[in-house]
Amino acid sequence: MISAFVLESVLTCPHCGFNKEETMPMDACQFYYECSHCKALLRPKLGDCCVFCSFGSVRCPPIQQHWCCG
Ligand SMILES: [Zn+2]
Repeated sequence: MISAFVLESVLTCPHCGFNKEETMPMDACQFYYECSHCKALLRPKLGDCCVFCSFGSVRCPPIQQHWCCG
């Protein structure tokens, strides 16, 4: 059921507080994300599989479907 997923997530940079809406990949975890404002390279917090789970407003699609790497 592809339509059930939320693919838009608002990432908040922990360094500068900049918000940006990004589209998440459907079937993969994104490990790195470069803040477009301060250029900080974000990585997931311990226990999270991707930057969207750590810094996004919505958890990643694999988590939403409960088959993520975690
Ligand atoms: Zn930033």
